[in-house]
Amino acid sequence: MNPAEATIRENICLMAKSLFDRGYGCGSSGNVSVLTESGMIISPTNSCMGRLDPARLSMVGLSGEHISGDRPSKEAFLHLAMYAERPKMTAVVHLHSTHSVAVSCLAEIDPQNVLPPITAYYVMRIGTLPLVPYFPPGDKALAGAVRDVAKHHHAMLLANHGPVVAGTSLDAAVYAAEELEETARLYLLLRGEQTRYLTPQQVSDLHARFST
Ligand code: ZN
Repeated sequence: MNPAEATIRENICLMAKSLFDRGYGCGSSGNVSVLTESGMIISPTNSCMGRLDPARLSMVGLSGEHISGDRPSKEAFLHLAMYAERPKMTAVVHLHSTHSVAVSCLAEIDPQNVLPPITAYYVMRIGTLPLVPYFPPGDKALAGAVRDVAKHHHAMLLANHGPVVAGTSLDAAVYAAEELEETARLYLLLRGEQTRYLTPQQVSDLHARFST
């Protein structure tokens, strides 16, 4: 293993533990991946994000074949679908984080864009958040649905399930996933309150200033 891959493996474990320690996952929920020249490195199936071992992370080929390490997460296909449609993205975070899942279950949300523009950082890190329809665990049709949405978005919310967020680095993907979860929490806190969201003009101004 080259030194760069060793560093990537260490960083996946550090970031996953940080997410777990702050309540972004429980049990064996959630998975983190990074794309490398050798394939996708991802947390193994039934592993706890708080206790990942760098040496046992799974290496998976871009067609989904298991190359080395422990058996990959059963949700590896979500990550592969994102990478297939977004070639600039090199990391994906998928969580079952409480507030995002809660929002994904609400009847009131707009499936085209689930959360309102509450803060500038949400607009900059997530922007638009579409809802992917519900599919039962293991249903491969979910991969197609994720690919369809990933053509236009780097972040999405799976109905009654949780967010999938891609980034141009592991840090970027984790920060965006954190911003999404905190914004879902704010949305729930503000529900029923008279709230002043950012205006369409303020949102378009942010896109003009910070879009890459
Ligand atoms: Zn999941």
